[in-house]
Amino acid sequence: MVTQQELPAPFIVRSVRECADGGATEIYVDDENLVAHCLSVKGYLLPNFSGKGPLLYDGTAVPIRSEFESQVLAQLRRAEFNLDKADYESRIYSRGRPWSEMENELLRCARGLVQALLRHVESRRYVEIPELLSNALKQEEVERRIAKAQRKAKDAVKEEARQTRRRASEAMGLYKPEDPCPHCGFTYGWDGRSCEHCKYRRG
Ligand SMILES: [Zn+2]
Repeated sequence: MVTQQELPAPFIVRSVRECADGGATEIYVDDENLVAHCLSVKGYLLPNFSGKGPLLYDGTAVPIRSEFESQVLAQLRRAEFNLDKADYESRIYSRGRPWSEMENELLRCARGLVQALLRHVESRRYVEIPELLSNALKQEEVERRIAKAQRKAKDAVKEEARQTRRRASEAMGLYKPEDPCPHCGFTYGWDGRSCEHCKYRRG
């Protein structure tokens, strides 16, 4: 544990982002040497896991319940806020909403996100997240492979049917291998009488 004496200097929060894609949170801070860092969590919307993932520090996972984690949390818990006006003004949604009007609301939002991130990492469930997430990702991968195999099987059936039609057309003198569709010019869907690509049918 971090003792009172070793308590690291608080972060200075410069800007925050809450991304719509699954709910990633990014908190940009300066440390005591004014070096910029990013604390972030990705958001997940999987069939078996939805919510935020493990804490990342400059993009690298913070070992759960480690000395480093408690140090980062201690710095964040006592964070000071000095939001970056230039960063705000560079964003598209800032157009027509001057900093002077928005500063308090942004500050409230930044404090809220920092509190939410702390609650997330400090929660009891947090320690289970890597395993839950890993299982959910594996499950998703399995489902993705099954779906891919099913698509492949379906494509094989379609291809077989196409070859059968081509052989029939060939026997009637309507088709030679690699003949293109007279309408769209693609070869893959043309069987001498109809085209799966452009839906053209020979009259
Ligand atoms: Zn065609």
